[in-house]
Amino acid sequence: MVLKALGEIDIMDRANAIVHSVLESVAELVEPGVTTRELDRMAEGLIRSSGGVPGFLNYRGFPATLCTSINDVIVHGIPNDRALVEGDIVGVDCGVLYKGYYGDAARTFAVGRVAEDARRLMEVTERSLHLAVRQVRSGGWLSDIGHAVQAEVEQAGFTVVREFVGHGIGSALHEDPQVPNFGKAGRGPRLEPGLVLAIEPMVNAGSPGMKTDADGWTARTADGSLSAHFEFSVAVTQDGPRVLGRPEFSVAA
Ligand code: MG
Ligand code: MG
Repeated sequence: MVLKALGEIDIMDRANAIVHSVLESVAELVEPGVTTRELDRMAEGLIRSSGGVPGFLNYRGFPATLCTSINDVIVHGIPNDRALVEGDIVGVDCGVLYKGYYGDAARTFAVGRVAEDARRLMEVTERSLHLAVRQVRSGGWLSDIGHAVQAEVEQAGFTVVREFVGHGIGSALHEDPQVPNFGKAGRGPRLEPGLVLAIEPMVNAGSPGMKTDADGWTARTADGSLSAHFEFSVAVTQDGPRVLGRPEFSVAA
């Protein structure tokens, strides 16, 4: 695990502020008729004009700035020319490299009016992220994060994806430790100030299984059910969790 100095975390806060400005712009643009490629072009322009570099573009060969994951796609959907349709839900994941450090965050958006089950899936997934953030404290257990997500999700009758997990983040997009969205509470390692974690519940309405499309990226629910994804990058501090780029979600220790 790589611990960051305060100055490094401040740079990561700026990287994540760019990410969240992209997600805010996506929120304003998402509506029936818009394509995910249009969202991707907007995102790349906004990131570059903010002094950053798209963090996912060409990462292990990924071809775009955003991951755009519609309906039964869990994560890693590739932007394309399909127009969004009223009732869709679309997960948008964005990474930014800024002054040598990464930001990484995601939200799932409703396209127009969506069905009640889709609305509830998004609400539960976002709430599980907020509950997970509350587990981030100096001296706390890493596994309390995933335990909090799993408890909230399963209590609502939904399931947690096992194949993808959150991660440490810093000068590399993916660092140790892995941050599963499931597991028993009270297991190590202990969280230390300076650790930065990308916490990212991926939640299916049906069974937890997944399958990957022939493009090698697009991960879908095995049973075709809807899936939602929310993510924050969170620094462990002596004063509690610091949600990078979204200070209003930080929690006092
Ligand atoms: Mg992400
Ligand atoms: Mg991530």
